[in-house]
Amino acid sequence: MPGYDSLLKDLRTSLPEIDAASLVALKTQPVIIDCREADEYVQGALAQAVWIPRGFLESKIEKTVTDRAAPIVVYCAGGVRSLFATRSLQELGYTNVRSLAGGFSGWKKAGQPWITPHTLRADQENRYSRHILLPEVGLAGQQKLLAAKVVCIGAGGLGSPSSMYLAAAGVGTLGMIDDDTVDTSNLQRQILHGNDRLQIPKVDSAERTLKNLNPDVNVVKHRTRINSGNAEELLGAYDVIIDGADNFQTRYLVNDVALKLQKPVIHASIFRFEGQLTVFPANGSPCYRCLYPQPPPPEDAPSCAEGGVLGVLPGVMGTLQATEAIKLILGLGTSLAGRLLIYDALAAKFRELKLRRDPKCPTCGDGVDRAKIQLVDYDQFCASPSR
Ligand SMILES: [Zn+2]
Repeated sequence: MPGYDSLLKDLRTSLPEIDAASLVALKTQPVIIDCREADEYVQGALAQAVWIPRGFLESKIEKTVTDRAAPIVVYCAGGVRSLFATRSLQELGYTNVRSLAGGFSGWKKAGQPWITPHTLRADQENRYSRHILLPEVGLAGQQKLLAAKVVCIGAGGLGSPSSMYLAAAGVGTLGMIDDDTVDTSNLQRQILHGNDRLQIPKVDSAERTLKNLNPDVNVVKHRTRINSGNAEELLGAYDVIIDGADNFQTRYLVNDVALKLQKPVIHASIFRFEGQLTVFPANGSPCYRCLYPQPPPPEDAPSCAEGGVLGVLPGVMGTLQATEAIKLILGLGTSLAGRLLIYDALAAKFRELKLRRDPKCPTCGDGVDRAKIQLVDYDQFCASPSR
């Protein structure tokens, strides 16, 4: 019986190897398989590598590489385990397998680039398992969500469901902007809050609810009202803006700042039994001013304090806002950019209007330098707390 040393020597002379420089120079990229254990893999790997630990190689390879003639390069830490793996793959009928000489350490010594792979803690794998099971999301998508920063303007009717679903989904940083305190009349629709939170700041109540839903989420509280002086600083730190404002002046301001900062805005508004939703994309066209070029005169604006709203309506619209935000973060599907979705709760109907960019739009029209947009504080249309 040959010992380990002679077996290894035998494999070294009989199996094909490739060094780092030759692998990089290959014209056709082979399938690269990392056959190390999890604790090795998480510390660094080749960017293109498919990770199949040695113990699962034979059982999983056929799902990863269906073509037995496809070029494959296997690597481990130092180039020994990958030789045994190469032999196993040959025995399974793979005809073009090579072992990376020197393994991952040889690769690093040769100065080749590598990455720290997307991994999650065991408790996160469990928490987000229904996302990870979706091939369109997967581990990499969940990692994107955890790295994403979303800000909700308003911790009220729309901000409640949007922030709660974003927190549950694992959006890693959630900014909440609201200067108000919780009132009993909010609780008919603002499900972030509850009877035990009356009179406390909405951002504090929001933080308690969101952290309880998901401790992974970093809740950043902004107990303030957005205005022309603080808007750029407030929104600049985030990737996606959820506009749940209850008034026109905030919507215009958010639109103008977002165009300056080139950030996408997910806009929704609610009134009585009807909700509207659209996405103003990061490139800013069409924008809110294409839809409503100027604020209505105060006497025509619906009075927020008197305007009633069906309590569940912001639940529907805010949940749709969270959906659009998650799609934007993951780069999935078709966004509502250029389309206004109108929900009529009484008729149980969704309608859609096409939004067009207005070439004369004061903020996104032809020849407008967005970096130079002047921020304006319009007069208050109504002084009521967030709807
Ligand atoms: Zn516009």
